[in-house]
Amino acid sequence: MFTKLLEYNIFNGSKIEFMKYIDKFSKINIVSGNPEVLYNGLDSDLLLKSFTDSNTVIIPDGVGTLLASKIVGMPVKEKIAGIEVMEEIIKKCTEEGKSIYLLGAKQDVLDMCKGNLKKRYPLLKISGSHNGYFDLNNCDSIISDIKFSNPYAIFVAMGAPKQDIFISQNMNKLPCSIFMGVGGSFDVFAGKVRRAPKWMIGLGLEWLYRVIAEPSRIKRLVSIPKFLLKVMTFNKT
Ligand code: UDP
Repeated sequence: MFTKLLEYNIFNGSKIEFMKYIDKFSKINIVSGNPEVLYNGLDSDLLLKSFTDSNTVIIPDGVGTLLASKIVGMPVKEKIAGIEVMEEIIKKCTEEGKSIYLLGAKQDVLDMCKGNLKKRYPLLKISGSHNGYFDLNNCDSIISDIKFSNPYAIFVAMGAPKQDIFISQNMNKLPCSIFMGVGGSFDVFAGKVRRAPKWMIGLGLEWLYRVIAEPSRIKRLVSIPKFLLKVMTFNKT
């Protein structure tokens, strides 16, 4: 059920299997394991500890991670997109009357994201929200707000590594059952950013679509070859 990549266990099953798998956790951190996120973990003791914790499950999100799984001879079954898992959790929370907290993005994006989620899921309980522009070392009032609103799931959309640092520093302090870093997903739900068309996603070209839409992202692609090189050399030693 897992592919070993460097220090990490990457979930190797379908999205449906993943949703069943996470049911057994009372507290879980879901990490969208793209090369950038996983590479960050190699450079930080805090993140490595968090990503390899028994309460963390990493999903293979990104064509670079899929390629790496092939390199080590244990190809993952399918790419599992973080934003799709987020939506599955939202659907489940809506059905079960459980609440969510949205932490991240700019205030206008956050407001539009909340509005659109409420339109799509009228019965969804959003117990609280806060934008993602604050000091990670000075955020006691936000922690208190999350504790007070007591959400079942918290989605943290502040990009990597900020969202991962927030989760690793605060997971034990907070009562939530599901923690998930979701990058630019609030921008997508807000309608500010579009996901790639299905045919591009199918061909593993979502990254290309995002670079064309936002050329400054090209710098971030460098993490893909860096990560693949680590994977190739790690398995030779
Ligand atoms: N962001 C934030 N706080 C910050 C920096 C970024 O909330 O200090 C938000 C930003 O507004 C955007 C998201 O984080 O909504 C960035 O997501 P990105 O596109 O980097 O994530 P990806 O989808 O590539 O993982």
